[in-house]
Amino acid sequence: MSRDNAIADEKKRLVQEREQVLEELGHLREFMQAEVDVEPDEGDAEIFEREKNAALIAVLERKLQDVDSALRSIAKGEYGICERCGKPIESGRLEVKPDATLCVSCQTEVERLARRNRPAARQIEW
Ligand SMILES: [Zn+2]
Repeated sequence: MSRDNAIADEKKRLVQEREQVLEELGHLREFMQAEVDVEPDEGDAEIFEREKNAALIAVLERKLQDVDSALRSIAKGEYGICERCGKPIESGRLEVKPDATLCVSCQTEVERLARRNRPAARQIEW
């Protein structure tokens, strides 16, 4: 499969995912609004449900941001390209992290450099 086809597929997948997330968010928000008048007697279960929903909404909003940023990269023609070395980012990595901007080896390298650039505990100068 050519790279362009792979990106077109990925875009389709992201658009579908975006729709699913938006739909789910819509339901959850509706539920959160509909349940505002809670009887004090049944408060505990309701509060638990609402907290669970609020957490789920936060996760979905985060997901939506990731999907949106991946879609923006596709629009700019930068999707799946490592911004450090310019090589294609591994597709397995993009599945896990659709908004990845570095390939696995650059990510590893960047993390290694970040560790090395920390001030040394002791520097001896003669
Ligand atoms: Zn790279």
